[in-house]
Amino acid sequence: MDYAEVAVDAPVSPGRTFSYHIPSRMTLEPGQLVWVPFGRRTLQGIVMELSESPQVPETRDVLDAVEPSPVVDHHHLALGRWMSSYYLCPLFASLALMLPPGFESRVRSRISARVHQDSKEKQAPERLRPQSLEALEQLAGKPSLEEKQFLDLLGRSGERELTKLVDLGLVERRVDIPRPRISPRYDCYLRLAGTPDAGAVEELSGRQRMLAEAVSTEYGGFPVTLANKTFGQGTGQSLVNRGVAALDWVRHESPNTATETGPEEEPLFLTPEQDDALERITDLLHHLESTPRSILLHGVTGSGKTEVYLRAIKKVVDRGDQAIFLVPEISLTPQTLARVNSRFPGRVAVLHSGLTERQKFDRWWEIRDGVYDVVVGPRSCLFAPVPRLGMVVIDEEHEWTYKQVESQPFYHTRTAALELSKLTGAVVVMGSATPDVETYHQALNGHHRLLEMPRRIPGPGSPGGSRLAQVEVCDMREELKEGNRSIFSRSLAAAMEERISLGQQTILFLNRRGSAPFVQCRDCGYVAVCRSCSVSLTYHSLNSRLLCHRCNRRTRFPRRCPQCEGEHIRQMGIGTQRVVDAVLERFPGASVERWDADANRTGSGPEEIMQRFSSGQTQVLVGTQLVAKGLDVPNVTLVGVILADVGLFLPDFRAGERNFGLLCQVAGRAGRGVHPGRVVIQTYRPDHYAIAAAAGQDYGLLYQQEINYRRQMGNPPFNQLVHMVWQDTNQGACQRAAVETAREFRRQVDNQGLSSIQVIGPAPGIPSRLRGRHRWHLLLRGRDLHRFMEGVNPGPGCIVDVDPVHVL
Ligand code: ADP
Ligand code: ZN
Repeated sequence: MDYAEVAVDAPVSPGRTFSYHIPSRMTLEPGQLVWVPFGRRTLQGIVMELSESPQVPETRDVLDAVEPSPVVDHHHLALGRWMSSYYLCPLFASLALMLPPGFESRVRSRISARVHQDSKEKQAPERLRPQSLEALEQLAGKPSLEEKQFLDLLGRSGERELTKLVDLGLVERRVDIPRPRISPRYDCYLRLAGTPDAGAVEELSGRQRMLAEAVSTEYGGFPVTLANKTFGQGTGQSLVNRGVAALDWVRHESPNTATETGPEEEPLFLTPEQDDALERITDLLHHLESTPRSILLHGVTGSGKTEVYLRAIKKVVDRGDQAIFLVPEISLTPQTLARVNSRFPGRVAVLHSGLTERQKFDRWWEIRDGVYDVVVGPRSCLFAPVPRLGMVVIDEEHEWTYKQVESQPFYHTRTAALELSKLTGAVVVMGSATPDVETYHQALNGHHRLLEMPRRIPGPGSPGGSRLAQVEVCDMREELKEGNRSIFSRSLAAAMEERISLGQQTILFLNRRGSAPFVQCRDCGYVAVCRSCSVSLTYHSLNSRLLCHRCNRRTRFPRRCPQCEGEHIRQMGIGTQRVVDAVLERFPGASVERWDADANRTGSGPEEIMQRFSSGQTQVLVGTQLVAKGLDVPNVTLVGVILADVGLFLPDFRAGERNFGLLCQVAGRAGRGVHPGRVVIQTYRPDHYAIAAAAGQDYGLLYQQEINYRRQMGNPPFNQLVHMVWQDTNQGACQRAAVETAREFRRQVDNQGLSSIQVIGPAPGIPSRLRGRHRWHLLLRGRDLHRFMEGVNPGPGCIVDVDPVHVL
């Protein structure tokens, strides 16, 4: 096999590989990371397969291999291939998830100016843009610039401009191939050679003989560094030269950073529901051919799901396989971590963002060597190189942190895990108290086995005993009618007063996630929505217009409510600071603190805020999403949701489901100690299904309503979505690109008679500007969108997100 098909680290179309010749001095295998020439650049690539003949007649040589052996195994190569075609991203981008940490690197090119004597220079500048001339001028003042810096100076289409400058001989590009930022560290040991020649032993000097004796008694090998220190530099090497000893390189291991193990737990008797769940999982583990190989464990908080995961993992480990245990966010799950660690002492690798690159790297290789039975971590851990994957647990499967939104590929952990399960036969166990509506729908339709655990396990171990907090919904329209214009309902104010006097604590929750300013009538609760999209309209103070961020329809701000003719129609949305002020106004002297992203950036750190709150120093904590998760303070007996409507009317069809989940979660913060908890939800829309369902902690109600709406509107799971976002510093260019693509899509839909595919938009995104760049977006909805998207190349300024979780 003289040729390699290589996935190159370049923005190329999904699944695309390039043929390279393998020089005779080199042997390569699929899964190896290599350096290849690509156009004028040198890039990394991953060998996908070897072949007898190339795709094209002319090929170039592979330059070098980064490591002498493959770093990606064949299952992960296949997974990467699938992700590339499903998420419409370059093959290398999806495989990069599976590389050892720190291996992915780019050649750093430096650009320097060239000094010219000939006449070419005189005519060249006329052909250049003013911005390029300016860039050249800046470059001339320096020895060289990093390519990226120079591209920034060149601005738009910088790559093309740079190529031109190189061609004109005005600048020069120099490349260095970097070593991996980290490489395995080895410790070197001396071991006795199998049968040393008796003559050789005779000839040893005194020191050499002493060392040879020391080596012979050291079962695990004698460290070379120690040999040099004790017996003199070079003594070890001389034993090797004489054939008495051999060198043994062992990869250096840094200490495992798994959190300390919790106390040894009493063995529990499983409840009948747990027993049944475990049996069904075990059954799947034993029958490899049995499908589906995924299980949805729907169980209320405290129903014993974690116990089931741990027992199931034990079965996997006893069989000699490994498990991956995924959690939404490591820092929020200390209790779960402690439990995993105490069940599998010393056999758990915890991967999280707090590790140094070196630690991540060492863990990665150890996992690959099968050192650990269980790997725990956030979504990226799905790609950990465990050699014999038996099970993947996805705890809190509904959490949106399971979708990668920061960079390509925009994968969903659940979807990728199910694919990995197809490749390896591993069982996927997903668990949640409030499953994603799509997952639940799939389960009801037989794509996952569904296990219900509807009851809490009574007893001191479960939070709040077996009680759920008592939830009260406060209708703010009534408050207004009775003359209460404060942001606190009378009921919430009275409850707060009581807590403060009793020395108990209160959390006030304010949803701020994408708090686009919506418009609501305070008399009847009406929310302004778009006539064609039925998503809520967003208020733009600049021209006091209402804008649909879906279809770009604009309307005037209504003076009166179209529903009740009332005049209290307002732009809604309250900041945390206003809530803090209102608390202080009402309860002078109370200790109040706020915790949100802004406070995190400016004031004291989250640890200090947490510390002051857990110690009881802070009586009232005002916060956003951050307080909803993980806070476990037994003295909190009251949770107030200031305005549950915020976030509910976001122009995103998942807004209702999300709000429900968030409200359930925040309600769970109250009454975790001996005192019962109380939750007050303030709203102008007590009739809204998401709020009603949250008040009753009733997942079934939420699911029924939600799935009906999804069916009516043709949203997932009934159709697939692809979300495209254009970003550009130039508003006109951004809009043009979006509009042209939409037009082209519509033409295709018409030409091919694809009535089932809808092209929605384009419209300005939310936010319409981000970090100085304008945003326009477009939504495709329908079936078989992959076939439709085939061959579409929307250009470099466009982000394509398949199965988006946010469509803003
Ligand atoms: P979930 O993951 O569904 O929230 P957990 O597995 O954390 O539930 O269980 C809740 C509490 O009940 C934990 O403190 C756990 O130790 C305890 N628990 C779980 N299973 C049992 C059991 N079979 N018998 C007694 N206590 C149990
Ligand atoms: Zn609209």
